[in-house]
Amino acid sequence: MSKFWSKIVHELTPYTPGEQPKLNNLIKLNTNENPYGPSPKVIEALQAEAADSLRLYPDPNSDRLKEAVANFYGIKPTQVFAGNGSDEILAHVFQALLKHDQPLLFPDISYSFYPVYCGLYQIQYKTVALTDTFEIDVNDYMQPNGGIIFPNPNAPTGRLLSLQEIERLLIANKESVVVIDEAYVDFGGQSAIGLMDRYPQLLVTQTLSKARSLAGLRAGFAVGHPDLIDALHRIKDSFNSYPLDRFAIAGAVAAMNDREYFEMTRQKVIASRERLVEKLNALDFEVLPSGANFIFAKHATHDGAELTAKLRERSIIVRHFKNPARISPFLRITIGTDQECELLVSALIEILKA
Ligand code: PMP
Repeated sequence: MSKFWSKIVHELTPYTPGEQPKLNNLIKLNTNENPYGPSPKVIEALQAEAADSLRLYPDPNSDRLKEAVANFYGIKPTQVFAGNGSDEILAHVFQALLKHDQPLLFPDISYSFYPVYCGLYQIQYKTVALTDTFEIDVNDYMQPNGGIIFPNPNAPTGRLLSLQEIERLLIANKESVVVIDEAYVDFGGQSAIGLMDRYPQLLVTQTLSKARSLAGLRAGFAVGHPDLIDALHRIKDSFNSYPLDRFAIAGAVAAMNDREYFEMTRQKVIASRERLVEKLNALDFEVLPSGANFIFAKHATHDGAELTAKLRERSIIVRHFKNPARISPFLRITIGTDQECELLVSALIEILKA
C-alpha cells in the first residue's frame, strides 16, 4: 500500500494467474495449455518471418489474421478484431462495450478476470448464481439494456451452454451487448459465431492459446457486427495502436489455415478427456460434464486442497480454487497427453490408498 496509489489501485484485487513453475520436471496440468505443440506450419511461418522481416514494423491492423479468421468462419474481415491474446481483447471489450447504467451480468462462478476488469474500468456488475448442477440458467439473465458476459464452455467448471439456449438469451436481450468468451469452445462446443448475422448485439471472443496451442505467442480475436468491432478499434487506437507483432501475426495465420492439424489435435484431447473421466469416476470422483480441455472433478471423501498438495509432492500440478467455498472441493485438471493422464491417475491411486 502506498499513499501515491490512486483509489482504483487501493480498491483493486488483482487477478491471480495459474502458477507458471520454473522447474521443468513437473507434469503441468494447471493452466489449460495444449499438451501438443502447435502445427509444424506455424514453426515454418515463424522461421520465415525471422529470416525476412523483423526489421520492419508489423501491420497495425493485423489484416492477414483478420482474413484468415474470416476465411475459417466464412465471415467478413470487417467482422473480426485481432489482439494479443483474448485477455487483451477482453480488456478492450470491457472498456468499449460493457460499461452501462445497468450492472453487467456474469455468473458467480466464471473466469476470475471479469471482476478485475470491472474494478479497473469502474464497471458496476452483478453476479448470477449457477444452478445446483453448475449450469447457466438463461432465465436468470434478463438485462433490459446493459451487458452480459460468460465463457462457453464456462471456466473453471467446463460446462457447456447449448446454442439453442444462447439464442434464447439473445432473443430475450435485444438491447444488451452479449459477449461469449469461447476460449475453450473447440473441445466440444459449438461456436455462437453462426448466430452473429441475426444478432447484432452478439460479440464472440476466441483465443489461439488453447486448441491451436499458441499460449506463448499471444494471439486472439473477437467476432461480431462491424459496429461492435469498430468500438474495439477505437479503444485500441487510443492506446496508440498496440498491434500484434510480426511473429504473432505470421504464427496465428498459419495456425488458422492448418485445419487438418487443428482437427487432429483437438480430437486427441477430447478422446483423452473421455478416457480420463472414466478412470476418475472409477476412483470415486464426480466429474462435471466438460466441453473444454480441462475437467472439474471432486472426490467423494478427499478435499480439493489436500489432493492438490499431495499431487504437487509427486510433481503434478493441477489448479485448486479456495473460493467460492462451493468449488473448493474440486480440482481443475488440464487434459495432458495420455501418458501424463496415466501418471496423474497412478498418483491419485497412491494418494487415495494411503
Ligand atoms: N477466457 C477464459 C475463460 C480463459 O480461461 C482464458 C485463459 N486463462 C482466457 C480467456 C485468456 O486466454 P488468452 O489471453 O491466452 O487468449
